[in-house]
This record gives sequence, C-alpha cells and structure tokens, in this order.
Amino acid sequence: MAGTMDAIREAILAGAPGEEIANLELPETVLAAFVRKDEQEMFEGIDHQDKDPRKSLHVEQVPTPPLGPNECQIAVMASAINFNTVWTSIFEPLSTFKFLEKFAKTGELGARHNLDHHIVGSDASAVVLRTGPGVTRWKPGDRVTVHCNYVDLEAPEGHDDSMMDPGQKIWGFETNFGGLAEIAMVKANQLMPMPTHLTWEEAAVPGLVNSTSYRMLVSRNGANIKQGDVVLIWGATGGLGGFAVQYVLNGGGIPVGVVSSPEKVELLHEIGCEHVIDRKAEGYQFWDGDKQNQKEFVRFGKTIRGLVGEDPDIVFEHPGRQTFGASVFVTKRGGKIVTCASTSGYKHEYDNRYLWMMLKDIIGSHFANYKEAWEANRLINLGMIHPILSKTYPLAETAEAAFQVHNNLHKGKLGILVLAPDEGLGIQDDAKRAKFADKIDVFKRFSD
Ligand code: NDP
Repeated sequence: MAGTMDAIREAILAGAPGEEIANLELPETVLAAFVRKDEQEMFEGIDHQDKDPRKSLHVEQVPTPPLGPNECQIAVMASAINFNTVWTSIFEPLSTFKFLEKFAKTGELGARHNLDHHIVGSDASAVVLRTGPGVTRWKPGDRVTVHCNYVDLEAPEGHDDSMMDPGQKIWGFETNFGGLAEIAMVKANQLMPMPTHLTWEEAAVPGLVNSTSYRMLVSRNGANIKQGDVVLIWGATGGLGGFAVQYVLNGGGIPVGVVSSPEKVELLHEIGCEHVIDRKAEGYQFWDGDKQNQKEFVRFGKTIRGLVGEDPDIVFEHPGRQTFGASVFVTKRGGKIVTCASTSGYKHEYDNRYLWMMLKDIIGSHFANYKEAWEANRLINLGMIHPILSKTYPLAETAEAAFQVHNNLHKGKLGILVLAPDEGLGIQDDAKRAKFADKIDVFKRFSD
C-alpha cells in the first residue's frame, strides 16, 4: 500500500528512529519542481533576460523517483536555488533534456532519467528513506546533506580526481530526480553528514556553491591560495562569492569584493571583508559596443591598487564575457585567473599579451571532487564557514525564487523549504550552535 508524504514528514519531525522510517511506505507520487520536455522550445526568439522561469518551472505531483544499486531515496527537508536551475528553466545554453537523452544511451539505469519532465535542484538537506543494493555506509533515518557530483567512477581518468571522469554529471542538472522535490534520488556517495548546528535550510544551501568555491580557491586543483594573496572576487555577496570571501579570510588572504550596491558593500564589511568595490557606483564600461575599453581596465586596476596597494594574485571569475578581459588585465604578473562560469556570455575576449608577457595562468574549474566536497562540508560542520542564506521560499514558489536569481535580485543563497514546514528546525546540537551564535548573528544580516 502506498504511504503518504504527510506520514513521512511527521515521523521525521517527531524524530522517529531509523527502523520506523525504514518501515514507512513511500507514496506513488511526490510534489516536485520540474521543466517539461514539450516546452523546451517555449522561449525561442526571446531575449535572455526576458526568459521567465515562472513560465517554465512547474511544481506538481510526479511519479516518485526510483531506487537502484548504490542509490538512496531521500526525504528532502530543504533545498536551494542555484544558477543551474535558472539555466535549466530558460533552456540555455541548451535544453537539459539533451543531457538526459545522452544519459539514457549509457544503459538501463541511465534510461530511467530520460522522462518527459526534468526534476531540477542540486542541493538538499535530507533524511535517508531507503537504500539500494550495495549501500553500506548510510541507513534510513540518517540526516544528510548532498553534494551534486554524480559519477560511477568506473573510468580510470577519474580515479585521482572524480571531476576528471568523462561520465561525471551534476545531479539535478545533468541527471533527473534532483533536490527540489519531496523525495529525491541520489548516489550514496553524494551523501555527507548534515552539520549538527544548522537548521534544515541552512544545511541545504551550501553544497554546490561552497564546494565549487573550495576547489577554485583552496584546492591544489584550483588557485591553491596562500597567506597574503590578494584575491579579487566578483559577485562577492552572491552564491559562490559569499563562500569565496570566507575562504580567503580563513586562509590568511586579502579579499577584494566586487558588488553592485551600497547595502552589499556594508554586508561585506560586516563579515570582515575590508576592501570592496561597488561596480555600479564606479560605472565601469568594460565594453564599448563590441570592443573592449582598455582605459576602463586601467581605471579598475587603479581602484584595486588604491585599496590594497598591489594587484590581485588571484581573480575569482564567473561573470564571463562582461568582465573576463578586465580580470586578465588586472591580475598580478605570475597570478591566476580561476573561472567556473560565464553568466554574461561564454565567448570571452582578452588581450593575450597581458597573459603571456606577464606569465599569468587561466585555470578552468568545475564543481568539486568527492574529497573537496567532503572537506568543504567539514568546514561548515566545524563552524569555520557559514552559509549565507538571505531568504527561504516554499517549494510551491520555486519558480519565483529562480526568477529572483535570474534577475540578480537576491543576496547569498535562496533556500527552498520542502518538507520542513518552517525555518529554524533540524538543529541537532544546540550547545554547538550557541558557541557560534555571534558569527551566525552577523551572517543573519544578509536576511531580507
Ligand atoms: P549568483 O547570481 O548568486 O551570484 C553571482 C553574482 O555575480 C551576482 O550576484 C552579481 O553580483 C555578480 N554578477 C552577475 N553578473 C555580473 C556581471 N555581468 N558583471 C559583474 N558581476 C556580475 O550566482 P552564483 O554565484 O551561484 O553563480 C555564478 C555563476 O557561476 C553562474 O553562471 C553559475 O551557473 C556558475 N556556477 C558554476 C559552477 C560550476 O561548478 N562550474 C558552480 C556554481 C555556479 P553583484 O551584482 O553584486 O556584482
């Protein structure tokens, strides 16, 4: 007999033991946020910024995600909006159904993902409901957070760094059954222990962006920051940037944050980032039509030197086309530009003379391998990195939250309450939370 989501939610909120949770029947359908295959061409001919996630993201009942070998079904308490949900919902740079179709060609297990709907979401705090054959580390009732590195690790290329596996995928973007649903399906090796001093919504938001920032800045696969490094961080109160600032401060570096409002400048000062540039107030025009404006690069570089007295050792890049030429130009001789994205366009232009003559490096980075994701989560659990959560929305309002992110109307992360009925629940260790109370209070100032 099929169970109900309400019974599962109540059992979790009442702290039911794992054996009880293991015996609860799962429902045949769950509420989920998804895009539809028959709508993948709905925005053709419409300008990027006018493509509206509120038209393409649906929240309705869909069949419960399946369970297979080395997989877990998890009850999602909270999730988050990532920019990849925006990309999926506006079908840019391509429809994510193309990923699901490609996945289906890998065999029977991949074929399960190729449906007429794509359940999105690459973050979750959750409780394990069921484990598939081969899962030994996790059991029903475990409280977990999820990282989105979905990989079989059969290919030797990935044995040293799972991001190098040619079959590596981002869960909830290149796979189906993502975190913006009452029940999601993950590989067991995506699970990590939920930090014990955090609420469901706080634990849900770091996974993707925190791990990505860790690899970009801290890991030897990224810029491998050292004490005293000056790090220019674009979008320093955004999803990635809010974590990047904390990594630079923790690592003894000197962050220079770039943001677009006096309010964001103030927030960065409050979390200890002394040097901040308000790009809107400065009115930088890096592009004059289809040509880059070197004078503006020079003006930008002078502003950075005026603040810290030297050029950046590292530039934390993700805006892409709009900023990349400036990023390469302002980087110190021998410095590094580490990039994971191209929000404003992926056809970058830069003057290569400033790269080779000044011996600079451009490092491409993408999410994080298992070890990096685990380390990034460990630092959250230690209270050394704190999630920046400005607002939560109920699952039913996922599309509105994605609209906010698409239009840069948000700060930090937007959380989504899925089975958690309210904010503030899920804390396992009150004494530990009390220890970090001052820090948590500072970060609460990001709240809307
Ligand atoms: P957010 O929207 O939360 O933050 C990005 C910030 O960048 C914005 O808040 C804005 O800050 C700034 N920004 C946006 N456009 C421009 C621009 N044209 N020029 C200068 N600054 C700009 O997004 P995330 O930080 O979560 O993600 C950023 C990008 O990174 C996205 O494209 C995302 O898809 C990608 N990404 C890639 C990952 C990977 O593994 N490869 C992982 C995570 C994200 P402000 O207005 O204050 O300056």
